[in-house]
Amino acid sequence: MPYRVTLIPGDGIGKDVTTAARRVLEATGVPIEWDVQEAGADVIEKYGTPLPQNVLDSIRANKVALKGPITTPVGTGFRSVNVAIRQALDLYANLRPAKSMDGVRGPYKDVDLVVVRENTEGLYAGIEHIVIPGQAAEAIRLITRRACERIVRFAFEYARANGRRKVTAVHKGNILKLTDGLFLQTAREVAEQYPDIAFDDRIVDNMCMQLVQRPQEYDVIVATNLFGDILSDLCSGLVGGLGVAPGANIGEGAAMFEPVHGSAPNYAGLNKVNPTATILSGVLMLRHLGETEAANRVEAAVRKVIAEGKYVTYDLKPHRDDPTAVGTQEMADAIIAAM
Ligand code: NAD
Repeated sequence: MPYRVTLIPGDGIGKDVTTAARRVLEATGVPIEWDVQEAGADVIEKYGTPLPQNVLDSIRANKVALKGPITTPVGTGFRSVNVAIRQALDLYANLRPAKSMDGVRGPYKDVDLVVVRENTEGLYAGIEHIVIPGQAAEAIRLITRRACERIVRFAFEYARANGRRKVTAVHKGNILKLTDGLFLQTAREVAEQYPDIAFDDRIVDNMCMQLVQRPQEYDVIVATNLFGDILSDLCSGLVGGLGVAPGANIGEGAAMFEPVHGSAPNYAGLNKVNPTATILSGVLMLRHLGETEAANRVEAAVRKVIAEGKYVTYDLKPHRDDPTAVGTQEMADAIIAAM
């Protein structure tokens, strides 16, 4: 029986990167039946909403989805479709690994971090209102013990299952004494139940500096929604940038895999951007499905192509305007050939 997987190409560069990832995943021989669903800015005219109900129904039914990025208008317009899907399906854990690869330029060769970001509340709850029109507005940063407990537990369970040594909780408990006080207190309580895994905590601003200077000292990082989002972009920068950073959104009933990067509208349809982040999101999906051997094969092929440095996109070349850079689909071809 093939796996039935919801495929949401998204908008912007979404179609470029999901086409590449789909081709690589199909080349593994793992039988996958794609249930393609449209969402994003491009479908508003057709469906009257950027998130048609059948998208959520499809993920609920299939329990697994691969998704490209979706544009969210800044400062105006519709609310984020990405956040809406995570909230509607209670995909509470956003797992974002950042691991060094040979062939990628950067200050470090030995980064191996995993950011576990709370995915359903915090500042992304989207509770905002105008206090005085044009003068003052307010956002509510909702933090609950339930969400703190399950995200920290997820981080420890992940650490245990993957041979990790330490979990670091990141917060701003010195200023946000009630909300991040609750997060930190809950994290400490959960940590006591995992004596085999080391635990510490850092204030978020200090953490940013430490990650830039000494990323090797950290392992699994658990944080509330906004801090986790910012830290995972920072961590992607330590290992080659957004073009190589995969992600997974995991809940009790479903899981959705997507790159950390956004829709980079300036590059849409140009066959230019790096497909690695979406292909490695596909690797996370294969592992989730229990297809470990196929996942290892794809990951090894990605690493080989990047280490050789020949058939890679512009962002992995020494200079961004390097004329030898290949396109999105050509890099996927090289990965398929390497498999
Ligand atoms: P972005 O990640 O789209 O792009 C930032 C820059 O990163 C790009 O200009 C490009 O230089 C680089 N980049 C991104 N992906 C790349 C790739 N695959 N290969 C090579 N380089 C790559 O971030 P942004 O410009 O801040 O956001 C654009 C839109 O995407 C916004 O509407 C935002 O809301 C949305 N967004 C969506 C998601 C999601 O769908 N999960 C995540 C983040 C941002």
